[in-house]
Amino acid sequence: DHASQPLRADRSKLYMADLESALHYSLRVEAARASALAGAQLAAFKCYVAALVKYFPGRPCVQTYLQTLDAWLRNWTEPELPRTVLKEAMKNNRDASHPSVLPTNVTWVGCQGSERHFRGYPCGLWTIFHLLTVQAAQNGPDKELPLEVLSTMRCYVRHFFGCQECAEHFEAMAAESMDRVASREEAVLWLWSHHNKVNARLAGGDTEDPMFPKLQWPPPDLCPQCHKEERGVHAWEQPAVVTFLKAHFSPANIYMDYAE
Ligand code: FAD
Repeated sequence: DHASQPLRADRSKLYMADLESALHYSLRVEAARASALAGAQLAAFKCYVAALVKYFPGRPCVQTYLQTLDAWLRNWTEPELPRTVLKEAMKNNRDASHPSVLPTNVTWVGCQGSERHFRGYPCGLWTIFHLLTVQAAQNGPDKELPLEVLSTMRCYVRHFFGCQECAEHFEAMAAESMDRVASREEAVLWLWSHHNKVNARLAGGDTEDPMFPKLQWPPPDLCPQCHKEERGVHAWEQPAVVTFLKAHFSPANIYMDYAE
């Protein structure tokens, strides 16, 4: 059973349980901390839900959940959205002819840490945003709205990510170079390369799970063709990285193990 036999997750796969757990946590926990949402914070929340509706490859009941929440938010035109009202609007509805359900349990599979305080939500949030940048690149015109997903992530992290220090670091990286991203494919690569910068900065630190050392990702065992050497120095084979990211963060690579 699950409790006594933790799943040995496969690092080459994505798990729907991680994605749904991170969605649940990002919407119902992190975004519902303030007593009310207003102004830029309310706009950031609406923007996040709208991007999820467009690009998150969820199960039908989760798609319905996101569409219902998005439609409800579009209807909310008052300047302030009280937390109590939002929480009510974010409840599941299993009785409708089209059930609208985002599971409320938090189960980490690919994002399971070796101890409780490692991995989990931050791992799930990275995974969601990589998936969204890739799906936006696969399902839209490359040169149109290149920053759609990245700006959504920037706003979400700034206004809601509980790790304050992380949010400040991310904002500094975004302010430095995000504006230069000119296509949806460049957005995929921007998030990949900046996540690797974060991995490099955190390697060996005390937030690193010893069972999951921070690597420059994807490591050679996941993607041998992503790596090359130029005059004895490691370099990325960028076209192979793009191909790998598109396959890794694709609906076909999402596994249902442990999803409710
Ligand atoms: P994570 O880094 O969370 O990665 C999750 C999964 O994504 C990995 O298991 C791997 O499958 C894949 N992956 C790894 N690298 C890449 C890549 N380059 N491109 C695509 N996929 C990749 N923690 C701090 O201590 N200080 C910080 O300043 C900080 N800033 C953060 C900023 C943001 C926006 C986020 C979302 C998190 C931040 N964190 C920070 C948390 C930290 O980055 C990790 O999420 C956390 O330590 C858990 O690490 P992990 O081993 O699960 O892998």
